Amino acid sequence: MIQAKGYAAQTAETDLAPWDFERREVGPHDVQLEILFCGVCHSDLHQIKNDWFPGIFPMVPGHEIVGKVIQVGDHVKKFKADDLAGVGCLVDSCRTCDNCKDGLEQYCLNGNVQTYNGKGKDGVPTYGGYSNTIVVHEDFVLHISDKLPLAATAPLLCAGITTYSPLRYWKVGKGHKLAVLGLGGLGHMGVKFGVAFGADVTVLSTSPSKEEAAKALGAHHFVVTSDPAQLEAVKGSFDFILDTVSAEHDMNLYLSLLKTNGTHICVGVPSEAYAIHPFSLLAGRKSVSGSGIGGLPETQEMLDYCAEHNIVSDIEMIDMKDITAAYDRMLKGDVRYRFVIDMATL
Ligand code: NAP
Ligand code: ZN
Ligand code: ZN
Repeated sequence: MIQAKGYAAQTAETDLAPWDFERREVGPHDVQLEILFCGVCHSDLHQIKNDWFPGIFPMVPGHEIVGKVIQVGDHVKKFKADDLAGVGCLVDSCRTCDNCKDGLEQYCLNGNVQTYNGKGKDGVPTYGGYSNTIVVHEDFVLHISDKLPLAATAPLLCAGITTYSPLRYWKVGKGHKLAVLGLGGLGHMGVKFGVAFGADVTVLSTSPSKEEAAKALGAHHFVVTSDPAQLEAVKGSFDFILDTVSAEHDMNLYLSLLKTNGTHICVGVPSEAYAIHPFSLLAGRKSVSGSGIGGLPETQEMLDYCAEHNIVSDIEMIDMKDITAAYDRMLKGDVRYRFVIDMATL
């Protein structure tokens, strides 16, 4: 076995702390990475706190992983030692169902294997990127361009693909009015992609202090959602709302901001179910939909698009030991716009 070290939550009630554990040996189709940087997603916090469902503990979070290949199995074709590489939210899937065959491994009909808080086909729990190394089947490892700053590339592996995928699926672009609800890790990537795809982008935020930064990200308009006059001014005006909010919020209020036939796309995952009144939908034939991360081919497409268009995340680098303080700031919406852990500080 490979000896690994990382930070783990031993239970849903304890903070993350140093933890030594084992990874599997590198198999014929496996790639071993030295993890250099790992982004901090709000899903990490949801999962170590059992916000969604009881987790598998000890839990090593982290699914925005970038690093350097240090070992490859005999049959690995796509990678060699010293290549830059990334791992996102998935490390395996059934590979045989219709969705897997279509490159939609995130919707695997037989249940995919998440990078952490999951169990591999061998029944062993998976451990994520808040650690020094990881071993993953080459099919679930992504190529990372050396054109982009590596640390700022890490958040593309979750925040990037989770916003890129729905905007591509709904073909959001020129002529569309897109609202991005919540300007955090996902939201700021949604703004960057929305602008790059040619949409007219409005940020809907609870934080007046983020206006200047939102404009610097390329947003065309900024609306403070606690101000009824500002909300009234954008009623019935959006083709799409990309909802990245991590906590409870009033869906009926936001649905009133959509045009007739508009679509509200849920990517944020609060712990409680939404309460939606039918009138909010039928008055204007509105749709509520959702989108989960992205499959492997689209994740590579997104990374290549970012390399070509010079798109990365705006990050604040932290030391591993400061993770709990970073979570506290994330809960207050005080992130500009993604914390990334420098694994050299582990
Ligand atoms: P984040 O960085 O904490 O951003 C969330 C933003 O939501 C905050 O910055 C804040 O923006 C806004 N917000 C927070 N509480 C709010 C409230 N009560 N009402 C209205 N707005 C509020 O989190 P993230 O990493 O971007 O993740 C966002 C959500 O997406 C999480 O629930 C996460 O689990 C989920 N997620 C889903 C997928 C998927 O596959 N669908 C993938 C990754 C993450 P303002 O200050 O601008 O209001
Ligand atoms: Zn994530
Ligand atoms: Zn499948």
